[in-house]
Amino acid sequence: MSQTRYVFVTGGVASSLGKGIVAASLGNLLKARGFSVAIQKLDPYINVDPGTLNPYEHGECYVTEDGAETDLDLGHYERFLNVPTSIHNNVTTGKVYKAVIEKERRGDFLGKTVQVIPHITDEIQNWIKTLARTGNYDFVITEIGGTVGDIESLPYIEAVRQMKWELGSKCVSIHLTLVPYLKAAGELKTKPTQHSVKALLEQGLQPDIIVCRTELDLSESIRRKIALFCNVSYEAVVQSIDAESIYEVPLNLLKEGLDVQVLKSTQCTNYPEPDMKQWEDFLYRLKHPKYEVDVALVGKYTALKDAYKSILEAFCHAGASNLCKVNVHRISSEDIERGSTEDFLKGMNAILVAPGFGDRGIEGKISAIKYARENNIPFLGICLGMQCSVIEFARDVLHLEGAHSTEINPDTKYPVIDIMEEQKKLANLGGTMRLGNYDCFLVENTLVRKIYGKAEIKERHRHRYEFNNEFLDMFKEKGMCFSGVNLRDKLMEVVELPSHPWFIGVQFHPEYRSTVLSPHPLFVDFVRAAIDNAKKK
Ligand code: GLN
Repeated sequence: MSQTRYVFVTGGVASSLGKGIVAASLGNLLKARGFSVAIQKLDPYINVDPGTLNPYEHGECYVTEDGAETDLDLGHYERFLNVPTSIHNNVTTGKVYKAVIEKERRGDFLGKTVQVIPHITDEIQNWIKTLARTGNYDFVITEIGGTVGDIESLPYIEAVRQMKWELGSKCVSIHLTLVPYLKAAGELKTKPTQHSVKALLEQGLQPDIIVCRTELDLSESIRRKIALFCNVSYEAVVQSIDAESIYEVPLNLLKEGLDVQVLKSTQCTNYPEPDMKQWEDFLYRLKHPKYEVDVALVGKYTALKDAYKSILEAFCHAGASNLCKVNVHRISSEDIERGSTEDFLKGMNAILVAPGFGDRGIEGKISAIKYARENNIPFLGICLGMQCSVIEFARDVLHLEGAHSTEINPDTKYPVIDIMEEQKKLANLGGTMRLGNYDCFLVENTLVRKIYGKAEIKERHRHRYEFNNEFLDMFKEKGMCFSGVNLRDKLMEVVELPSHPWFIGVQFHPEYRSTVLSPHPLFVDFVRAAIDNAKKK
């Protein structure tokens, strides 16, 4: 296609309607029709990136290959499109203002008063258009975070209005709303949608397509009503009905013709039918499991599903690949500390200890690992989970009493996990960890090497601490195998226990790389090991 088309997705009525899933599903459909697509999230908050946010605020922080700490919706984009995202795919108000203020300090504005319009709105457009240029995309889908009516999202809506005015039919705007079902009245209600579109119109933006999140099918009369009150055609009212799995949404929206509406609005003609074969195969496997396993996910953010989003999705992909229903039990490591480890973990077919920061619940994690190690239960430790497996081994097998990570106890006699050299001199917390893709060499005749089927891998990282090589020989002597190494910096990236059926700790985050069409090999093999373990019982 000669010129990039821009699709904007705004949300109204309520948050958590699944804008990210709708944007990712549309991207998936356009890609299945052979178009090149990039998706981007604009977040109206003032943090420069979500790296410094507590997961309770916005869920997990997702890390891209190029080391950007981003919104979890980028994880959906990668999982649905099977293409990596980058620093250009997530923009925040903090980033926008930072760039404008830096330009002002350099004197780039030549004495002009710097204002929201045009300087902030120009900068927002700049980020959108820059993404288009990075890959010469046919479509750039831009999801605007927040809900219409929020004060902080005003400049973003204004930037969209300006782009639509400037680019005409090269732009299309989709508004996602809620059509609630009122049980007492026995009816679906369209008024919130009408009001939400009114709010958008007050800001100068007329949506071209309305996607209605609903529990029940929308009748023809409801669709006509929404079309009439919101100034869109009947076909441009699209329902997004609640689905059992988020991965059904692309097929539901295909049936509703969302992608065709976008193609029509942007005057694309002669497009091929979408090839959804592999996607349908995945859904079939997901819905027709032969096996079922119970896996413990031990961490400290168990009250919030989104805190471990990518891990849960990686289990979903690996489950489908193994024809296995994976029941993930989120277990609080603080609860383990207060009770008996066995009570929480008995009957689990596998145990995963999650990534994290700080000391809260750390002893619970260590105790869960001891339980997995001593009872031959498949274990996967990710980042802090890997570090805890090293601490547990040091204390229990090497008898280094009080061994710890200096993140938790800076005065420990046995700092088996210690801060990385280059981290020592850093003062700022934002964006300064060892982030993104790094090489890892997998040692021959090890479990990870067998699982990956190759010697050289790249995985994404997000940490400041590492295994302390001063203890390397002691660990090796007692049977811990260091099967993955960053050769350049001599960092131990993977540990395993050959005496155990399946015990792996990884300093990196495999979960960020798992997608529907490429489930992550570590998760696939971990679920396979859980199935084997379940069969023994
Ligand atoms: N807190 C640990 C570190 O910084 C682990 C980080 C993580 O689990 N992502 O090294």
